Amino acid sequence: MTAGKRAAEASLETLHRIFTIPEAPDSTLGRIEKEISENLAGFLGNHIVATEQALTDIEKDFAGAVIPEQPAFVSDHMHHLLDKLVSRSVHTSSPSFIGHMTSALPYFILPLSKLMVGLNQNLVKIETSKAFTPLERQVLGMMHRLVYSEHEDFYQNWMHSANHSLGAFCSGGTVANLTALWVARNNMLKADGDFKGVAREGLFKALKHYGYEGMAILVSERGHYSLKKSADVLGLGQESVIAIPTDDRNRIDCQKLEEKCQALAKDNIKVLSIVGVAGTTETGNIDPLSDMADIAEKYQCHFHVDAAWGGATLLSNKYRSLLDGIERADSVTIDAHKQMYVPMGAGLVVFKNPSSVAAIEHHAEYILRKGSKDLGSHTLEGSRPGMAMLVYASLHIISRPGYELLINQGIDKAKYFASLIDQHSEFELVTQPELCLLTYRYVPSQVQAFMATADVDTNQHINRLIDKLTKFIQKSQREAGKSFVSRTRIEVQKYGGVKVLVFRVVLANPLTTNEILEDILEEQVELAQKSIQYLPELIENTSF
Ligand SMILES: *Cc1c(COP(=O)(O)O)cnc(C)c1O
Repeated sequence: MTAGKRAAEASLETLHRIFTIPEAPDSTLGRIEKEISENLAGFLGNHIVATEQALTDIEKDFAGAVIPEQPAFVSDHMHHLLDKLVSRSVHTSSPSFIGHMTSALPYFILPLSKLMVGLNQNLVKIETSKAFTPLERQVLGMMHRLVYSEHEDFYQNWMHSANHSLGAFCSGGTVANLTALWVARNNMLKADGDFKGVAREGLFKALKHYGYEGMAILVSERGHYSLKKSADVLGLGQESVIAIPTDDRNRIDCQKLEEKCQALAKDNIKVLSIVGVAGTTETGNIDPLSDMADIAEKYQCHFHVDAAWGGATLLSNKYRSLLDGIERADSVTIDAHKQMYVPMGAGLVVFKNPSSVAAIEHHAEYILRKGSKDLGSHTLEGSRPGMAMLVYASLHIISRPGYELLINQGIDKAKYFASLIDQHSEFELVTQPELCLLTYRYVPSQVQAFMATADVDTNQHINRLIDKLTKFIQKSQREAGKSFVSRTRIEVQKYGGVKVLVFRVVLANPLTTNEILEDILEEQVELAQKSIQYLPELIENTSF
């Protein structure tokens, strides 16, 4: 703190003040609050500085490990945050930032979030959440019905039943997937005779009791990495997640899946779960869920569908049939913080059978008593915020038809963008959009012509050169700060299944216009021309 400046002081009196008296409207904090509530997009646009700064430079401002001995005034600290943090954050809600699965939020989310934080309800138990518990159960019921379409009686029987649960609300898709596989594991290795079940005796004794050599989780090679984390945490080990090859549309090859099931059965390795992906993170494609359900039935294993990103498509009557077969899954993960436009920290898993969560039930003396309706007895997390309120409010305020419009416009926009790329001589569409996600790259027309007749080895070499250019363009675009697409590395059948680097775009923001998409391509062409190293190298290597 500079000399002569007023200094805050740690005293009970000042502490009382931060718990009671709000900042005056003309204080820094008061002004910021007003700006945020009146025009969030404007506030973010004004305060997030687009120019790229090296992370190592930013780290210098976050270098000290000493907890301050001197308290700061709230307004002074707000200036500090705006300067050091907000200005260097990412403008995820900008319509030209089309690389993320988490994007813009409707304005009503802000005051509602503030209310949620102010209420500070803890969903672990009724005692600290009261009406939030039935609300969360209702949200789970609505999402369950969206997936499984059971009869009204079903929901009246189970939605608020103490010993049942239609699902679990959690922080995101990772914990949702872990919860689903945890339930699957405990049900498959349940108590039997003298054996008290895997939950009590652990995996080693469980495998011995059931006489299995091991367990496996089968998912396409496009499966999300959270499944490996789950296998690790559940004691199965990451290598028990087996990647099954995909077809040219990035969908699991069911014949290979079945062959793998047979081979594992021969080796006495039990398939814990087959996992279908409904909207892969990298390409947005959907597995043939019905065929997978048949195989899961045949081999008597759990069938989980990871619809963390794509699950919201069920809200669109026009496109929900893309997920046909999802209703046959034992469990389904959906992230509300992706295509349902809720802020981060809102994931959920729903279970076909309301009794299946009994397999992970935990009780404690002082809370989560047997027979209570405490949600914490069926969740991995303990203390948990009232995020379900934001999903509840969004489902009411936006409603199913509103969500349908949002989902449909995203898919239509992705199709439009794909057609732009297809028509443009300098771009190559790598994966067609099935939902609102697609991948592509910049490949000059003469390079495309060269590759069309070149042999596999030559193309492999050319692809490495294109990779360098793709990375250069993506990084330069991000650093320029006007727009953003993400990049990923995927196997491409056309090039013999070799992985190539691609731009990845997710068209969820309703404010992204066709003009913005056209500008993004134009900017990429310009950036490519600026590459004094990679583009010339590529051209030189592909001259006939
Ligand atoms: C995003 C995603 C996850 C992980 O969800 P988080 O909310 O990031 O934990 C899992 N699976 C798929 C298919 C996803 O897209």
